[in-house]
Amino acid sequence: MSHGSPCTTGHAAPQEALERRLESELAEIRTAGLWRELRRVDSAQGRRIRVGNREVLNFSSNDYLGLANHVVLREAAIKAIEKFGCGSGASRLVCGSLSPHHQFEESIAAFTGSEAALAFNSGHAAALGAIGALMGSHDVVVIDRLAHASLVDAVRLSGARLLVFPHNDLDGLERVLRRRDCQGAVRRPRVLVVTESVFSMDGDRAPLGEIVEIKDRFGAWLMVDEAHATGLFGDRRSGLGEQPGLGDRIEIRMATLGKALGSSGGCICGSRKLVDLLVNRARSFIFTTAPVPAASAAASAAIEIVQSDEGARRHHRLWQNVAGMAELLTDVTTSPANGASAIFPIVVGSESVAMKAASNLFERGVLAPGIRFPTVARGAARLRVSLTSDHTHDDLGLLARALREILANAG
Ligand SMILES: *Cc1c(COP(=O)(O)O)cnc(C)c1O
Repeated sequence: MSHGSPCTTGHAAPQEALERRLESELAEIRTAGLWRELRRVDSAQGRRIRVGNREVLNFSSNDYLGLANHVVLREAAIKAIEKFGCGSGASRLVCGSLSPHHQFEESIAAFTGSEAALAFNSGHAAALGAIGALMGSHDVVVIDRLAHASLVDAVRLSGARLLVFPHNDLDGLERVLRRRDCQGAVRRPRVLVVTESVFSMDGDRAPLGEIVEIKDRFGAWLMVDEAHATGLFGDRRSGLGEQPGLGDRIEIRMATLGKALGSSGGCICGSRKLVDLLVNRARSFIFTTAPVPAASAAASAAIEIVQSDEGARRHHRLWQNVAGMAELLTDVTTSPANGASAIFPIVVGSESVAMKAASNLFERGVLAPGIRFPTVARGAARLRVSLTSDHTHDDLGLLARALREILANAG
């Protein structure tokens, strides 16, 4: 008898089994009309980008202020590379805590009016780290139904009980907070309410003032994901959480650096003690190599631009574009959020209609992605148009005309 592994006797080689399994899962995805593939882009981000051998008008990026390819960010990144190199070498706690990260954290803490801040490699990692560090299996997280997948993943990974309240529904939030789960008699659980300030796929805003009142009344904490608001809202433009009277009452503010700030990474802003706890407990901070120095340096440069006269001009152009687009789309989108942010969802319902509309748009030289399950609910597929300060009035007109024709033909 051979000593060959008994596990493989009579079975296909494991590699073959894996390939077959992959094949059947891929077939399932295709059949469901949910197939996704990457589209290679051969240029920097901007209002026009190169895709394959053509140039298209880009309404798909979150580079709201046109900073991703801004000369000042590029120079800041290059300088950081020249001084600190490309890689950070190790985790922040080992030897990767390079000064560009500290500078960035000081700068975003001042920007958001927080005591302290901690940078992560991505917004996704920031969500995992913060929720995982604070919440455990005895605790409850109450989350808006439309909150980003990274927040949902974070709650699941933390082991906390996940309760959902209907989107932006204050009575719904109260109802959930009144449930027994949140009012544990034996060992009062810690309760964390989680929402986005601007919703990534719907473009509407959370009623933060009211949410803060409610969570305070119930003694819960609040985490606000400002991914689509950082750099865009408020007098200082640090996000919706900077509204007077809110700052101190939002325990955890999350920012992403890859959207309006034109760089890459995530960040948690809050008290010094919160940040100290994250340094000690957040696994997605501890067990990962620090962000590249260029990313932190570019984000610091972005925060400076946002607060400068140029930032004010970019801001003004963006909001002019938002107002213009809202008007052009009044008959195309029925979204009540039309104009509340730089994100315009054009909900068509059917996944196949949304994907067909996106591909028709692309044929006309316009890139606006079709968004479908699991990014949004089944049957709520949409085109997602996002505007930047660099779009021109003609760009908006072209998009609106194309949308109107394509959607009319789609019936
Ligand atoms: C993009 C996004 C994130 C994740 O941020 P990354 O830096 O891209 O990982 C988290 N929350 C929301 C609402 C987002 O839109």
